[in-house]
Amino acid sequence: MSRQRASPAVERPSYQKFDVLVAPSTIDGHGVFAAEYIPARLKIGEIRGESITVAEGRRRAAGLQRIMIVEVSSRTAIDASRSTDPMRFTNHSCQANARLAIIAGRIEFYALRPIAPGEEITVNYGVTHHEGKLRCRCGAPNCVGNL
Ligand SMILES: [Zn+2]
Repeated sequence: MSRQRASPAVERPSYQKFDVLVAPSTIDGHGVFAAEYIPARLKIGEIRGESITVAEGRRRAAGLQRIMIVEVSSRTAIDASRSTDPMRFTNHSCQANARLAIIAGRIEFYALRPIAPGEEITVNYGVTHHEGKLRCRCGAPNCVGNL
């Protein structure tokens, strides 16, 4: 398996607080893996992207299998399709080790518990654009079965 650095040799942006790797995931496509120890409760990073309206976000999301659009308010959504932030590859798990928080219009990720190097970072997406039609493959004992 080839693992590549999430970002080229350039230093990560200030809002990416911990080193992570983007690599193939057993859950879906690519996932984000801790490249260093991440203590509980600390901010891991953010996804930044194009700011669009919620209506435009729903239009773009229609029919897509891998959705990178997050609604950050009742009016505004962030389309991270062209973002270079590694956190945009974060997969869903029903037993997540991190959480997504919308803070002042920003998409931020926080560790729910200590995350070891090499562990995949996952969040519970909650309600998604898939509206329960996508099968969940997270493998957690408490998996709800679909997204
Ligand atoms: Zn699941």
